[in-house]
Amino acid sequence: MAKQQCERSRRAFVGAAIAGIPASLLLRTAAASDRMTRLQAEYQDTPNGIYSCRLCTLFVAPDGCKVVEGAISKDGWCKAFAAVD
Ligand code: SF4
Repeated sequence: MAKQQCERSRRAFVGAAIAGIPASLLLRTAAASDRMTRLQAEYQDTPNGIYSCRLCTLFVAPDGCKVVEGAISKDGWCKAFAAVD
């Protein structure tokens, strides 16, 4: 009898652990994609007038951005543009 209860609680523990894995993976994925997609940022490969990524405080040389995913052009622009003082 005690052995059956032990087996049930072990199964419950293993089931709960397996059910918890996808949730932790989802949380990790959400944390990894804190940046906007190019579409969300309305990114374009061309400047917006005199404003471009090369003048933005969020630009990470040579082709990165702190808030937009993927490679970007220093001549690009998006709606999150933040001008260098
Ligand atoms: S303009 Fe947009 S894409 Fe370009 S560096 Fe700034 S935040 Fe990033």
